[in-house]
Order: sequence, then C-alpha cells, then structure tokens
Amino acid sequence: MSIANDAATVTAARQNPSRGGFGLRAEVHDDIKNDFDSVLVQLIKAAGGTHRVGRLTFRLAQEFGFCYGVDHALDLAYETHVRFPGRRVYLTGEIIHNPTVNEQLTKMGYRFLRPGDEVTTDDIVLIPAFGAPTRELERLKSIGCLLVDTTCGSVVHVWKRVEKYAREGFTAIIHGKYDHEETEATRSRTTLYESGKFLVVRDRPQAQDVCDYIEGRGDRAAFLAKYAAVATPGFDPDRDLERVGLANQTTMLSSESLEIAEMIRQAMARRYGPEELKARFRSFDTICSATQERQDAILKLIEEPLDLAVVVGGYNSSNTEHLCEIAAERLPTYHINAPECLVSSREIRHKPAFSKQETTSRDWLPEGEVTIGITAGASTPNKVIGDCIERICRLAGAA
Ligand code: SF4
Repeated sequence: MSIANDAATVTAARQNPSRGGFGLRAEVHDDIKNDFDSVLVQLIKAAGGTHRVGRLTFRLAQEFGFCYGVDHALDLAYETHVRFPGRRVYLTGEIIHNPTVNEQLTKMGYRFLRPGDEVTTDDIVLIPAFGAPTRELERLKSIGCLLVDTTCGSVVHVWKRVEKYAREGFTAIIHGKYDHEETEATRSRTTLYESGKFLVVRDRPQAQDVCDYIEGRGDRAAFLAKYAAVATPGFDPDRDLERVGLANQTTMLSSESLEIAEMIRQAMARRYGPEELKARFRSFDTICSATQERQDAILKLIEEPLDLAVVVGGYNSSNTEHLCEIAAERLPTYHINAPECLVSSREIRHKPAFSKQETTSRDWLPEGEVTIGITAGASTPNKVIGDCIERICRLAGAA
C-alpha cells in the first residue's frame, strides 16, 4: 500500500470511511456558495456566455473556474471546520493556488504549517489538492494527528503511473515545474522504490537536451551541471536514460506535454531502434480533464472576434498561466489575480504570459465598442470573476 493510501486509511479508520468527507456536504454547501459563487456569473452562463453592458460585450469561455478537484478540496475543508469546531487545523501549504480561497480559510482559523510548528495528536492536518511529498506524509502519520487528505484523484492517478515506472525500473521523466507542490509530491513517489528515478523537464528546450543526450550528442558534465538539481540524487544520465516513462504535472500545457512525449519517443527509437521501444519507453498523458477542457475552451473562445482577453487566477496557478499563454498568442491578454488589478480604464496590473513578475500596462481598455474574452483557472472562484467583470464595467463607465 502506498503511503498516501495509508494516510487516507488513517483518516478512514478514525473519521472518514470513504475519503469523501464527513457526510456534511449538504450542510456546508450554502457556505461555500456564499463565499465563492457569483450571481452575475451564473446569470451570464445561463444566458449562453455573453453579457452586454453599454459599450462592452463579455464573452465567457465555455469552461472556466473551479474544477472537480478544487470543489472536493473545499468540501473537505469546510466539512472539517464544521465537524471539528475549535480544533487546531493546519494546512501543509496553499490548499489551491488562489489568494481569495487561502485568505478565506485563514479567516476560518486554518493555519499554514511552518517549520518548527509542533503538531500533536489532537491536531488536524489538511493535505492540499496537490498532495504532499511522501516524507511529509510519513512524518505526519507518525505523529498520529488526523489527516484530512484532499489530494485530487487526478493527481493520485499520476502518482500511480510514476510508481509503476519506478517499480518496473523506468526513470520517470516528468513534464512539470520542479518546485510546484504537485510535482514535488509526484517526484517523491519514485522514492518509495529502490529502483525509482525521476528527471523533471520544464519545456521543449529542456526535453531537447534530454533527446540529445539519449542520442549520444550530450556532454555528461554539462548535462549534470544543468539537470542534477532536478533529478533523483545520484542521477546518472548514461544509466538512467536507458529506460524512461513520461508523465506530466496535471496542469501543464497539454500540447507541449504531448509534443515532449513524442520527441523523447522518437529519440529512443533512433537510439535503440523501434523494436526496442516497448522495453525502453512508456508514456501516459496525465493532463487532467479539467485542465484539458479549460485549454480547449480558451482555444475556441479566441477564434471569435475579441479585442482583448482577461484571464483571472492566482499568479502561482500553473493552469491559469497556461490559459494566458494560449490567449496571448492571438490577442492582447491580461492575467490578473484580483479585481484590484484593474486600476482604472487606463491602467492595469497583470502578469504577462511567460513572465514571473507582475507589471503595469497602460491603455489596456480601448475606446468605443469592446469585446472582452473572459476565462479563469481551475482554482479561481466565480466570485472573483464576477467582481472583475463588474469592475471593468464601472471603469468603462458602462455599469
Ligand atoms: S486542476 Fe485537475 S488535477 Fe488539479 S485539482 Fe483540478 S481536477 Fe485536480
């Protein structure tokens, strides 16, 4: 049994037979709705996704906002609050990547677990939707506190794939962001097996380096200088790239993940011959369906005649960043994380595609009739989306 399952079993044995909550879903439903839903967004959806106010037309993507994993995590967080009033509840990290959601949980009394915090058997610890590294789960389990495991089923699905690679002697090449909580948890799953190895690649250029090495064009010292820090300690590219299995962080750009898998498949075929692929190469698309649906929806939305797009979501939200990258290829796109980013009709604070930093741009809202495409990452509450739409209307003098 894996450690995560074991942790869930601790939960199950003590309080939660199905990892599906404490049977209080109906009770917390209204609170979650009040805190995160938006009447305006519901009305726009019911009207087919178009909203006209004065000179502005908003077009909502067909899929946006909270995914099933986030819904599940919030249900569990709210149910825990009701089921254990007064108990100290820690989060091992942001439950999801959205500032509004994390602020709300903090208001409810949730604390972020910091180094040095003394967790006791009386405490409750919530594992976020991204999961947590095996070592952290083991440590918490040994304390005997109650673990409420909100890890999304789609993330657990990736873990199973990576563990299988590790068991069967394949190095997991993970397309993801090394420091992202989900990838941190996923790569840790390889450590459950002696033969487990991982290498994280962030994008196509890094995947090309791996392909070059596989095909004998790489320099060992240069490769290790660049990739030792994002691979299993002691990683040996000559030995550990002989049998590889592909997986990805669930929220990466789907087209890029598929391309990277194909690049590495072809490199393995050229290096060892197509007849060896079965023994040396595995691949499994682990982009979650929610991410895929939101990426498909923005691709469809930007086919329409839009003047600009606004993408709403946390700046550290991987899936939101990718929605911004997709839209920015076609039209002026502004990734904002709160309504306050909409400073005035002339000025906007936003994080440009492929950038790490927030910046301020001017003249973002054209004069006259304007059509604005709106989407949001899987961790963005409808409430924030609705507030952004209302604020744009006010700034444009269209409210
Ligand atoms: S984005 Fe996908 S993997 Fe992440 S919580 Fe949502 S459904 Fe789960």
